[in-house]
Amino acid sequence: MEIVLFPDPRLRARNTPIETFDSGLAKLARDMFEVMYRTQGVGLAAPQVGMNVKLLIFNEEGKPEATEREIVLCNPRITSKSKERVSGEEGCLSFPGIYAPVQRHETIVIEAEDLEGNTFKKEFADWEARIFQHEFDHLDGVLFIDRFSPSDKTRLKPRLMDLKRTYQESLADS
Ligand SMILES: [Zn+2]
Repeated sequence: MEIVLFPDPRLRARNTPIETFDSGLAKLARDMFEVMYRTQGVGLAAPQVGMNVKLLIFNEEGKPEATEREIVLCNPRITSKSKERVSGEEGCLSFPGIYAPVQRHETIVIEAEDLEGNTFKKEFADWEARIFQHEFDHLDGVLFIDRFSPSDKTRLKPRLMDLKRTYQESLADS
């Protein structure tokens, strides 16, 4: 399993709801955690590994031994969010080397299914809320660069052009 890098079209494709909660799904989630830990991430959405389904995982500590922090969400829906927004720096495994501040809701309440298909509710705050909103965006084909300020967009344009060039070259090589 490899991380899909910008501007791969799978990052913008439609993600279908999960309807089958089987061992294949559990394995996909497990494999995603492994890739995330290996690449020093704290969150990962299925389209980032080339699977266009509504699944996301995260671990706010980013450490494999912190299993109690592991969150797996199938078909997540936002049911309420705080008016307060906070700005914080974000990166993304699909955008190596790119970091910029993004505004996110401070707290957020969600509903989702677990790997067995049971619906549950959960509230996230602060860092966890930020990770959730970043990954949730991926399931809508929204990328964090879409939320950058105009000045950050300008500042990071050369780096994005580099990623586009690398992607074109990888297509030409395959
Ligand atoms: Zn991301």
